[in-house]
Amino acid sequence: MAKLLEGRIIAEQIKSLLKERIKSSKLKLDSIQVGDNPASDLYIKAQKKLALDLGIEYELHNLPKETSHDKLIVFINQLNLNKAVNGIIVQMPLPLHIDYKDISRYILPEKDVEGMHPVNLGKIFFGKPKILPCTPAAVIELLNSLGGFLQGKEIVIIGHSEIVGKPLSLLLMDKLATVCVCHIGTSKAGKLEEHVRRADILVTSVGKANLIKGEWVKEKAIVIDVGINKVGDKIVGDVEFEEAAKRASWITPVPGGVGPLTVIMLMRNLVEAAGL
Ligand code: NAP
Repeated sequence: MAKLLEGRIIAEQIKSLLKERIKSSKLKLDSIQVGDNPASDLYIKAQKKLALDLGIEYELHNLPKETSHDKLIVFINQLNLNKAVNGIIVQMPLPLHIDYKDISRYILPEKDVEGMHPVNLGKIFFGKPKILPCTPAAVIELLNSLGGFLQGKEIVIIGHSEIVGKPLSLLLMDKLATVCVCHIGTSKAGKLEEHVRRADILVTSVGKANLIKGEWVKEKAIVIDVGINKVGDKIVGDVEFEEAAKRASWITPVPGGVGPLTVIMLMRNLVEAAGL
């Protein structure tokens, strides 16, 4: 039976270290939300609470849903120029008239606490990461907590999003793991199961409950489930938890696995960005 890989516990340890680093320094994180969205409301609530615990000032700017792409960029620029602001987050999803893939390049790389500016992503590409995207950083922390020796390990990532799968694949490749990235094309070709069965380490970031059958999981594999899916009034991941837990050596719970670490990574990026 798998042991639980609880991000919540590691997040508490990192939080104590961050408190030490912050001490009495004044840090300010500015967050922009365009329009209303229940999904980002939850994430904002978690960010606010953690910022408060760490003594970080958190300011939320609610812009109307009609805000144009250009107006949003002007607003970001004002925060870029404001010396009191150490980090900027633009909450997703954005209204459809705003090109969300274009927005992160307008945040100064040194204030880009989500690690999504092309300069920060480019540093990953060249093997010299500075500010990491939060969820890939959370996955790396989980693997580090298990010793972090990844050389030659077969790692299968399901999902190739810009915020998770793509940067994570580069980070893991740099640790000399053998990385395979699966996506909708893999599923359509009927090859998902065969890739999952090979994984020493499986990371899923899809957003489809029970997409990964527990019986596909290799004996003693490490399973990191990034997915967040609402099924009735329960939150579940992408992997059939009960069945996978019978085979894996370690498995993240959902919730309580990757999520709590993702938000603490944001604060760690802020501390790094401020040079503390
Ligand atoms: P995303 O942008 O929502 O895209 C989903 C990915 O899954 C895409 O790469 C997609 O491929 C792939 N996919 C869709 N259906 C598939 C299938 N049947 N078989 C294989 N691959 C399939 O991805 P995301 O932003 O990484 O989010 C994924 C999930 O993780 C969501 O549930 C999200 O809420 C959660 N999440 C959690 C955290 C956390 O901190 N715990 C952080 C970020 C995201 P195509 O694009 O080719 O269709």
